[in-house]
Amino acid sequence: MSEHQNFNRIRIIMVNTSHPGNIGGAARAMKNMGLSQLYLVEPKEYPAEKAVWRAASALDVLDKAVVVDTLDEAIADCSLVIGTSARERRIPWPMLTPRECGERSWVESQSADIAIVFGREDRGLTNDELQKCHYHVHIPSNPDYSSLNIAAAIQVLCYEIRMAHLTEKEGKAISYDDWDVPRAKSQDLEYFYNHFEEALCKLEFIEADNPRQTMTRLRRLFNRIRMDEMELSIMRGILTSIQNYIRRVEKRIEQSKK
Ligand code: SAH
Repeated sequence: MSEHQNFNRIRIIMVNTSHPGNIGGAARAMKNMGLSQLYLVEPKEYPAEKAVWRAASALDVLDKAVVVDTLDEAIADCSLVIGTSARERRIPWPMLTPRECGERSWVESQSADIAIVFGREDRGLTNDELQKCHYHVHIPSNPDYSSLNIAAAIQVLCYEIRMAHLTEKEGKAISYDDWDVPRAKSQDLEYFYNHFEEALCKLEFIEADNPRQTMTRLRRLFNRIRMDEMELSIMRGILTSIQNYIRRVEKRIEQSKK
């Protein structure tokens, strides 16, 4: 596979960016390292002159940037989603160092689409957004001033992807991803979580109006496992069987009342 194809399967997603200059800066940072797939989720001001200025000679990246309304749309066909965070969060999540993030993205991009998600300049990513990720990555920085400019953070993580590529090119193998079945895509995982929640509510294991913490823990559990497509379809089948069983029992109870 050529260098190009691999890089083209790793997308950088910027959520709700306020300053268009940062979008241009990100496009430039990406192109310098060989990346080209930029997704913008509800940018505050875009297209914009300021983005063009900061992009310098990376206008091609900017021109083909994909603008979408939701993070779900941006990650739907990705099998690996990595969220970035400038600080520790309440519920710990599996973490990667920037180096591990580069290596994992590089290796998995041989066979799947990968997303690295960046947050708002002022508030970062919401908990809901972070919970859609398999891993989180934090760039080690001064604990008293840990938040990098977003284009600078994109530069660091894209650099690590380039380093992973160079390490492999030198013949130093990075561990291979040789799973037999493709990993489940983000959209199918979302359908699974919704199905799971529906079944657990019906079983009264969780309350329909207060499912939050349990579903967060279950998301973390299943995201950690990285189910493949076959495993996911088995899980969906099990949930459907449970729902069908409940329906049969309900029907029997109903009939016995008549
Ligand atoms: N106060 C916000 C800062 C957001 S900085 C917060 O606490 O989350 C804007 C974005 O830049 C972040 O959402 C993240 O995508 C990226 N970023 C900034 N500093 C980072 C760091 N040290 N590690 C990883 N990503 C970082």
